[in-house]
Amino acid sequence: MITKTILVTGGAGFIGSHLVEHLVRTYPHYNIINLDALTYAGNLANVSAVAEADNYSFLEVDITDLDAVRKIFAIYPIDTVIHLAAESHVDRSIEDPLIFVRTNVVGTTTLLQAAHEAWKGSFGGKLFYHVSTDEVYGSLGETGAFTEDTPYDPRSPYSASKAGSDHFVRAWYHTYGMPVVISNCSNNYGPRQYPEKLIPVIIHNAVLDRPIPVYGKGINVRDWLYVGDHVAAIDLILHRGRVGETYNVGGNNEWRNIDLVRRICGTVDEQLGRKLGTSEALIAFVPDRAGHDLRYAIDAEKIRTELGWTPQTDLTQGLEETVAWYLKEFSAA
Ligand code: NAD
Repeated sequence: MITKTILVTGGAGFIGSHLVEHLVRTYPHYNIINLDALTYAGNLANVSAVAEADNYSFLEVDITDLDAVRKIFAIYPIDTVIHLAAESHVDRSIEDPLIFVRTNVVGTTTLLQAAHEAWKGSFGGKLFYHVSTDEVYGSLGETGAFTEDTPYDPRSPYSASKAGSDHFVRAWYHTYGMPVVISNCSNNYGPRQYPEKLIPVIIHNAVLDRPIPVYGKGINVRDWLYVGDHVAAIDLILHRGRVGETYNVGGNNEWRNIDLVRRICGTVDEQLGRKLGTSEALIAFVPDRAGHDLRYAIDAEKIRTELGWTPQTDLTQGLEETVAWYLKEFSAA
């Protein structure tokens, strides 16, 4: 018997596909509806492992299309939304900011509006879970970490659009009483990330003997979390998170970009059985990204103490799995 109907948006993308696969397999009594517009970043091959499952369905819909989203709420007894659909690449947001406003701000408010209309003020058993980023908090100096109380200070059109979406989710909570929860997570890595992002770019170029671009001097620091650990956090927040709360999710795993790039180069060389240092020799420093935040770090104390979440995948293991997955993909292409 189906006990929950969850609308996952962006389920054909990187994190969304791992989440969909996890929910479909772990909870056969939940109906999982994957809504995705299949932009350049969405790919149904990402969810092929569960495509035939009885408790899974896919809808190709744009979240900014209010009529289409309304229809979905009219047809399906959706009680939970987990919202991941977004434009997600900072460099693209610098080139073309308006699509980020459209998808991330207008799309999120469209979903909120459709859910609100469908749930008609009777919010019992309902939840709107918004998945967001630590980039909304801005940039840190050499010390400190973002907590849930850190003031928002987004710097790129991407982070500004995600910050806007977070504010609208909170507005629906305070204004209409919609049960919402938000998580803000650090950089994810793992299989199925679109090959424009840092880690797949490094692997791809290393394999093809092409220059490996590193912004500025490579000293920007990011916290890295394996995608499976993020999915585990989302599962916990979905089931045990407190309504109206925000949870920061992070790997406690900070790396300067240049050091991370070198580690990945080493893993690629090892897995290809070639001389250590071959890939590293391809590193090419390129002019820094405009407004490049120096450092992000997450204080994940709240989710750790309240929900008992800690990351389970160390960087070596996570990178080995990620590199192995991409090498297989590239050799199949
Ligand atoms: P992604 O770019 O891999 O996937 C985004 C998905 O959203 C794609 O399948 C795309 O087709 C879909 N989409 C885009 N516009 C749409 C629209 N208008 N209507 C419906 N679907 C649309 O992104 P990701 O890296 O998996 O990130 C997922 C979410 O997690 C995003 O909200 C992102 O801000 C957040 N997040 C990502 C990271 C990270 O490191 N990747 C970290 C923290 C938070």
